[in-house]
Amino acid sequence: MPELPEVETTRLGLLPLIGQKVGKVIIRNAAMRWPVPAQLSDILPGQQLQSLQRRAKYILAVFDSGTLILHLGMSGSISLLQQDEPAQKHDHFEIHFMNGNVLRLRDPRRFGAVLWCEGEIERHVLLQSLGPEPLDDAFDGKVLYAKTRTRPAPVKNVIMDSSVVVGVGNIYASESLFRAGINPNTPANKLSKVRYQRLADEIKATLQDALKAGGSSLRDFFGTDGNPGYFQQQYFVYGRAGKPCRKCGGTIRSIRLGQRSTFYCPHCQR
Ligand SMILES: [Zn+2]
Repeated sequence: MPELPEVETTRLGLLPLIGQKVGKVIIRNAAMRWPVPAQLSDILPGQQLQSLQRRAKYILAVFDSGTLILHLGMSGSISLLQQDEPAQKHDHFEIHFMNGNVLRLRDPRRFGAVLWCEGEIERHVLLQSLGPEPLDDAFDGKVLYAKTRTRPAPVKNVIMDSSVVVGVGNIYASESLFRAGINPNTPANKLSKVRYQRLADEIKATLQDALKAGGSSLRDFFGTDGNPGYFQQQYFVYGRAGKPCRKCGGTIRSIRLGQRSTFYCPHCQR
């Protein structure tokens, strides 16, 4: 599943499109998570892409009269092609710009989304209840501490709740809890301010490391299949059940928390 670093890297890869005008829109398959609005084919042509922003895992493409909301779902990816090339089976949506560039969305499982918003984007139903961005200065241990006082659920589930903080998916939750030395099963309301400060710092550091890994794939963004794909990284615990801990040599364990696989080292994480 594309996580926040993949989405941010995708956004960076699309930046060359800013200032370009739309020639045409092709909707090959509107049956995404929600129907792709058919009127996009009429609305977007002639409009200029003003900016590309990101909120949580939504890419926000701001045009003259509204904002296109793009989400990659479980299996989506966006390519930026320098010229039109034959579409493949899972290429569902594309924007052809007047300079010849093509933005193409591929999504085999079709849990992704293409939506259009003409009102205030912050008030859109998908965005209005989102918590802070993890990489913003406004996100820190104090925020986590304040938001968890009445939450006895396991801390891992709570940091994956997008009303607490956005963009901390399953991989980065496991990894940042390991780096902070916190057992993922700890009730969220039992952790101290000091431990939450460490956790907030490690969430930021874990995501920054992934962004750096993604930066190296950005060079190849243009071209068929030129999307950044999914980053290959060395994880401390994620996907390593039964293997030796990279820090203490003990055995990494796997448990289910909130229906998600959770990996941790019982010795390093208390
Ligand atoms: Zn360990």
